[in-house]
This record gives sequence, structure tokens and C-alpha cells, in this order.
Amino acid sequence: MHQDVKEILYTQEQLAARVTELGRDISRDYKGESVVLVGVLKGAIVFFTDLARAIDDTVNVSFDFISCSSYGNSTTSTGVIRILKDLDRSVEGKHVLVVEDIVDTGTTLHYLLDNLRARGAKSVCLAALLNKPDRRKMDVHVDYVGFVIPDYFVVGYGLDFAERYRHLPYIGILKEEMYQD
Ligand code: 5GP
Repeated sequence: MHQDVKEILYTQEQLAARVTELGRDISRDYKGESVVLVGVLKGAIVFFTDLARAIDDTVNVSFDFISCSSYGNSTTSTGVIRILKDLDRSVEGKHVLVVEDIVDTGTTLHYLLDNLRARGAKSVCLAALLNKPDRRKMDVHVDYVGFVIPDYFVVGYGLDFAERYRHLPYIGILKEEMYQD
């Protein structure tokens, strides 16, 4: 385990098992349809690549990516959302499945889901690996959720603190002293 991590919350094996289940649910719900998986950079990237490969060939899948401003080096949201990198292609008339690492206050997703609906997508659903409902400020419906967690600050499996720890293959709780001034 990394020295800055206090505790492993989900091991590589637990993550793989849950992602396989989510892939099955998505394959069942989108069977015979086309869907654009929209990965929210950068945190969702590891989850995105595993989830995409867990969706079977009865679904016609394409990839696109969007990047929104979120946390800098602090662990609390500013509430101000900006699109830093937009989708490459229009989602008008298409089924969209947004793939996100974690829903915390819900500020980012609330904005993003509304924004994609306003572009005329046929449907907009959300898959999030982690959900922290205790911290919610904005209402967000998570259609596919990996794990519901308490108010911990977690890293690994794509999730960072100041761009570090994304490569860890597990989800771990970061030691408080790493982000306290
Ligand atoms: P929200 O807008 O829901 O407050 O925040 C969403 C974003 O905040 C996530 O995409 C993620 O980048 C970041 N975030 C929220 N909670 C955590 C956490 O526990 N760990 C890490 N590494 N990032 C988090």
C-alpha cells in the first residue's frame, strides 16, 4: 500500500468484480442500441476503460470525452464549473452515458447532465464508480453506481490529489496530513 494511503477501501479485485456487474447492467439496458460513452477527464479515465470493456457486443458503443474544471489542490469544490475540453462530436438525438469517477456535492454533474440534455441528446444517463450522498448540494440521479461511500477523501483508480495517486490500482483513503495545511 502507498505510504500516503491510510486504508484501502476497495481492492483491485473488488473494483473489477463491481465493474463487471455494472457492464452487465448497462449491456442489458442498452441492448441493440447505440450509446456514446462520455468520459469526464481525467478522474474517470481508469473506470471508463474498464467499464467500456465490460459492455458486451450487443451494444453499439462509441467514445467521447469532456473535461470540466473541478478541484485544484484543495479537497473542496469551488462551485464554479467551466468546460475545459468539449466533446468532439454532437450528441443530438443520441443516447449518452456519462462516466464519472465520483459524485460528491453533485455540482459538476448537475451542470454537465443539464448541459448535455440541452444539446438534444435522446437520453442522458450517469454511471459513477463512487457516490458520496452525505456531501450532496445539488440533486443528481446516478443510474449506475459502483459503491456508496461515506465522506472520505479517496484516491487511486483514476482519482487524484494534486495530480498524484491516479495510477494506484485500488481506491484508498488519503491520510489527512497529506491535505491539511
Ligand atoms: P462535485 O462537483 O460532485 O462536488 O465533485 C466532483 C469531482 O470532485 C469529482 O469528479 C472529483 O474530481 C472530485 N472529488 C470529489 N470527491 C473526491 C474524493 O474523495 N477524492 C478525489 N480524488 N476527488 C474527489
